[in-house]
Amino acid sequence: MNTHPTLPEFDYLRPRTPAEASEFLARHPGEARPFLGGTDVLVRMRDGFLTPRFLVDVKGLEGTNDLHFDPKAGLTLGAAVSMNRVIASAEVRTHYPLLAEACRSVASYPLRTRATVVGNLCNASPAGDTIGACLALDGVLHVYGVNGPRQERLESFFLGPGKTRLEPGDVVTAIHFPLPPKGCAGMYLKLGRNQLSDLSIVGVTALGHPDASCPSGHRFRLALASVAPVPLVPVEAEAYLASHPITPESLHEAARLAADACSPIDDVRGSARYRKLMVRNLSATALAQVWTQLTG
Ligand SMILES: Cc1cc2nc3c(=O)[nH]c(=O)nc-3n(C[C@H](O)[C@H](O)[C@H](O)COP(=O)(O)OP(=O)(O)OC[C@H]3O[C@@H](n4cnc5c(N)ncnc54)[C@H](O)[C@@H]3O)c2cc1C
Repeated sequence: MNTHPTLPEFDYLRPRTPAEASEFLARHPGEARPFLGGTDVLVRMRDGFLTPRFLVDVKGLEGTNDLHFDPKAGLTLGAAVSMNRVIASAEVRTHYPLLAEACRSVASYPLRTRATVVGNLCNASPAGDTIGACLALDGVLHVYGVNGPRQERLESFFLGPGKTRLEPGDVVTAIHFPLPPKGCAGMYLKLGRNQLSDLSIVGVTALGHPDASCPSGHRFRLALASVAPVPLVPVEAEAYLASHPITPESLHEAARLAADACSPIDDVRGSARYRKLMVRNLSATALAQVWTQLTG
């Protein structure tokens, strides 16, 4: 065992504009990697899983350090905004408490001073703790690529563990959230092996809000972490709750449908069977608590 792990050699670049960053990354596919907090990239390099020739620091690009709330348009979070800044923002805590709660579940305070929400999304781990909140809150990524700026919806962003729709030359500059649905309530329940600094065995995000267009009068969003190759949205469970009266029984049935939608693996954190059972239990708990908040 190597008791003094070190980083492999690399060149460090700090481009001044998104175009410069994008052009360099596109010119060095597989060799150059963008990074923000580096809490995934540097650890994977130290452990020998990544050996990029170039690390491209994108924290200095214009707008990437901005956290801006507009009461009409919603929240824009620059890519370089740390999770602790998200948690500390009064506007996030007032209008997007689910996002603050998801950030707070990540590791420890020191790690969150560097780790970013955008890095968590781009890392595309099925265990990423902030991904469920970003999906439930309809986050849209602002990406600068070789053909200029574009937007990427999160629902089609994740392709597999560590794989996203991002191409060489793409730099995410921000994530935008529209105004949350009126009267919404949300919750993130994370099951880890200990209270601090562990990835989830299972993570359940639930967000509900009144919606007169649904037969049930309410719409729920659910997102599940660590139970499939990509962060999973159990659409059958969501559709069930939209079309059936909300009762303790229908909430349990939706939790069962959520567990059915999962295809977890056995790993060091837990067995597939345990994960499925915990999805059912945590989904039932999260949905019941969201329902209490909506009706209480
Ligand atoms: C001790 C420890 C505990 C952890 N605990 C948790 C936990 O509890 N929950 C959890 O979810 N995660 C956890 N993590 C993982 C990590 O901290 C998070 O995924 C974090 O959000 C990554 O953000 P970052 O800014 O550090 O990303 P980085 O490491 O900088 O980048 C992550 C990935 O995104 C790519 N990338 C970065 N910026 C961009 C960009 N602008 N455009 C395109 N691609 C980009 C990088 O190339 C890399 O592949 C832990 C990590 C450590 C070391």
